[in-house]
Amino acid sequence: MGRLDGWRFCPRCAAPLAAVPGRVDCAACGFVAWANAAPTASALLEDSRGRLLLGRRARAPFLGLWDTPGGFLEEDEHPLAALVREVREETGLEVVPGAYVGCWLDTYDQGGAGRLHTINLYWRVRVSEGQGDPVPADDVAELAWFQRDALPPRRELAFDCVPRALEAWKALSPG
Ligand SMILES: [Zn+2]
Repeated sequence: MGRLDGWRFCPRCAAPLAAVPGRVDCAACGFVAWANAAPTASALLEDSRGRLLLGRRARAPFLGLWDTPGGFLEEDEHPLAALVREVREETGLEVVPGAYVGCWLDTYDQGGAGRLHTINLYWRVRVSEGQGDPVPADDVAELAWFQRDALPPRRELAFDCVPRALEAWKALSPG
């Protein structure tokens, strides 16, 4: 189960591909594709009262469940630049990333197009009072602040990495 499952022909020259563990090779043109995980960058956004900002997903997978603002890196993009861009796109906030919290592996269901393995990087991000209220946009239907001891239950959280990142965040000292 991975991003190259079902690849049978070279996307460059259309010759049949040879599948070997972890990659596909095209003997005709030399094309190689590696089955790497796709990286994402996400923000644990905190306000001055120690609350955490979560967004309700507006599309599949996990439509309607709570998620941390963030998303996939572009091909040539630094993870911290992706973090700032995704927060801007989903909340309207201009932020400066804080401390790195950790990374968790997960998968991302693409419906009929299979399943990606993902590597999900998380940073703390402080939002100050003067930045105004976040406004949901892009693929976020709703944004809400949650007290540290009143986060949504596991069944209302998207993905596997989000509850794990939230647990790691709760274990940090308020900041
Ligand atoms: Zn080829």
